[in-house]
Amino acid sequence: MPMTDIEKTAEAGAASERDERVNLLDFDGEGLAAWCAEKGEKPFRARQLTRWIHRHLAADFDEMTDLAKSFRAKLKALAVIEPPQPIAEKKSADGTRKWLFDVGGGNAVEAVFIPEDDRGTLCISSQAGCAMGCLFCSTGKQGFNRNLRTSEIVGQLWQAERELRRDFGVTDPNDRIISNVVLMGMGEPLQNLDNVLRALKIFLDDNGYGLSRRRVTVSTSGLVRQIDKLAEAAPVALAVSLHAADNALRDKLMPVNRKHPIEDLMAACRRYLKVAPRDFITFEYVMLGGVNDSIEDADRLVELVRRERVPCKFNLIPFNPFPQSDLRKPDRERVLAFCRRLNAAGIVTTVRKTRGDDIDAACGQLAGEVRDKTRRAERLAKQKAEAIMILQPERRKKG
Ligand code: SF4
Repeated sequence: MPMTDIEKTAEAGAASERDERVNLLDFDGEGLAAWCAEKGEKPFRARQLTRWIHRHLAADFDEMTDLAKSFRAKLKALAVIEPPQPIAEKKSADGTRKWLFDVGGGNAVEAVFIPEDDRGTLCISSQAGCAMGCLFCSTGKQGFNRNLRTSEIVGQLWQAERELRRDFGVTDPNDRIISNVVLMGMGEPLQNLDNVLRALKIFLDDNGYGLSRRRVTVSTSGLVRQIDKLAEAAPVALAVSLHAADNALRDKLMPVNRKHPIEDLMAACRRYLKVAPRDFITFEYVMLGGVNDSIEDADRLVELVRRERVPCKFNLIPFNPFPQSDLRKPDRERVLAFCRRLNAAGIVTTVRKTRGDDIDAACGQLAGEVRDKTRRAERLAKQKAEAIMILQPERRKKG
């Protein structure tokens, strides 16, 4: 019988469970306080520990010099600080860096660091593989393996910041190189909500990474109920993968739309905006040559967001073809014309800059070394057939 997601996640933690030591990277502040209390320690010990782990990025309890020796001895016996280990790293000429992290069982996930003049953004993964099956996504084509544990999500930031600090010679723990985090790598973050929420709390915790809610972005393919849960528990900035202006096309590009059509998604966006740290939603829009990149498509988008009254910005992402994909890169001119059309309608729109081209680092299209365990050949054949259908001109007449 195939394992459930919960069983797969539990299996991933089995190594630490076997030696019965907990991985402290799995706890948010509240969880760590509860764990410390269970061990007879005062709540301020949890805050001290959080600072050592997430600010100083310490992995060795002996470094934690303001903790009593007896507490350090207890920690060594009962706990570990164990992020996923990098198995490959690539550095682009433009400063972009990509890490491939081993998460056990033959699975690996990617994180990408993108430096800009005024910020350093880390794009991290939330699942090994992805079950959402978006037609244009290489991760989707690998199928779903399992949810990442909190330690594996937070561990990507922990490892990347540590490595960048070392390379740039930064010693002050208050000097952060990574100023922004986006959950836009492998996986649908809101399908792994509990672990993602714990990770977000650590990112936002003043004793942890101390990031403001505006600097942490969760990107979703459009899971309506989970958007509401995120709004309640940790309303950070929200990016929504839209990719089509009508249900007919979105149904084909993103199977999630068959369950949560555009109107329901827009209503969830309006609810989210009541608590969001920004007064707009970012819509991601992958531009697929000959599929959704015409001026008429741009006009339909304008009509959609006006009709649905969702203040928004658009981020256009020219599709980057990968093996096993029959979709095309859009013409540069069409992308620019599309962008101009949205801007002329008063919707702030940008075209995502290509970064890390030489290391294949495009976020959301992360090519995989993740082993597919979910009938890959069958899925690929089905997705190819769907792509061919979409490319047929008759579709637009029906759409
Ligand atoms: S685009 Fe995102 S949600 Fe869709 S298959 Fe890829 S990783 Fe999953």
